[in-house]
Amino acid sequence: ESFHDVDMGEIIMGNITLSRYTKPTPVQKHAIPIIKTKRDLMACAQTGSGKTAAFLLPVLSQIYTEGPGEQYPISLVLAPTRELALQIYDEARKFAYRSHVRPCVVYGGADIGQQIRDLEKGCHLLVATPGRLVDMMERGKIGLDYCNYLVLDEADRMLDMGFEPQIRRIVEQDTMPPKGVRHTMMFSATFPKEIQILARDFLEDYIFLAV
Ligand code: AMP
Repeated sequence: ESFHDVDMGEIIMGNITLSRYTKPTPVQKHAIPIIKTKRDLMACAQTGSGKTAAFLLPVLSQIYTEGPGEQYPISLVLAPTRELALQIYDEARKFAYRSHVRPCVVYGGADIGQQIRDLEKGCHLLVATPGRLVDMMERGKIGLDYCNYLVLDEADRMLDMGFEPQIRRIVEQDTMPPKGVRHTMMFSATFPKEIQILARDFLEDYIFLAV
């Protein structure tokens, strides 16, 4: 069992080594090959399971393979809180080190002008809390036309916090690539009815993984 079982390219492999991750956790071991084959995924995994790297590694490796392309988000990760968004962003920066991929993060309670200026420098992987992202969309400051990879992290927590309307506004807007075209991954600690409905609405022919 090693990260070398799946080809993620030299830069990613080098950055995994720099991170001192020697062995994939169970969610990484199972989710990475599924995501690499571009199947939609509903994964039940707890905080601390290594779920962040489970989606970041294959998504970043796809972005590398597909080349620099647009300076717009190719990948969007929605997270419930500023703390989690920043954690995901830090991990993304670690794995994007020495590559052309530029991660950005936006969240509420901080200066929106500065976040907009940061986005305008180019962004391939955007980590966002739902409320702040809707605010940016309404100001016309963010286009998601190229968003081919969509991750909902801690989906149950986002619903508990009342973010369902914002999440639906983001995912169901006209310019977002539709399901079946984009590649969608949902992570949640629990799998209640509301999450099953979201999975039905957002995912296409998905694989269910519980670790
Ligand atoms: P997460 O569940 O994604 O929040 O990750 C929990 C913690 O485990 C974080 O501090 C990660 O940096 C760390 N971690 C994730 N995957 C691995 C791995 N394969 N080997 C060692 N540490 C890891």
